Amino acid sequence: MKGEKSLFTRIIEGEIPSFKIYENEHVYSFLDINPASYGHTLVVPKEPASSLHELSPESASELGMALAKISKSILEVTGVDSYNVIQNNGSEAGQTVFHVHFHIIPKYPHSAHQLTWDSVKLDSEDASELARKISMGIV
Ligand code: AMP
Repeated sequence: MKGEKSLFTRIIEGEIPSFKIYENEHVYSFLDINPASYGHTLVVPKEPASSLHELSPESASELGMALAKISKSILEVTGVDSYNVIQNNGSEAGQTVFHVHFHIIPKYPHSAHQLTWDSVKLDSEDASELARKISMGIV
């Protein structure tokens, strides 16, 4: 973020208005201004990291707790029992605001939005080496 406040920091600080849903010491949550479906909500750490892997353990765990609590309330209010939680990192992955955020998107029977992808079969030889390497990198 190189010194400049992100859009979401400006929202958290009240410089830009938002439809606030939840706030504590570490997390801020508000309605997405261009919802994919009714109730589409963003959950943002106050820590201004750009990508998920850059977050402090404290922010990451606080986000996890807030996501579960906020999702529960969205389900109760909207009456849906299906929803997606998505989180984009990097422009290639569709991130447009470079301050970590999770989308909670209710899925209604009539919802037109799609969050699906074409898949391939996992190569089991390659998979064991890949799993070993990734697991070695976790600190
Ligand atoms: P992403 O593409 O994952 O980076 O998502 C960014 C999200 O931020 C989009 O869904 C936007 O609609 C949303 N957004 C951008 N500006 C605002 C704003 N001022 N208030 C609420 N949501 C916003």
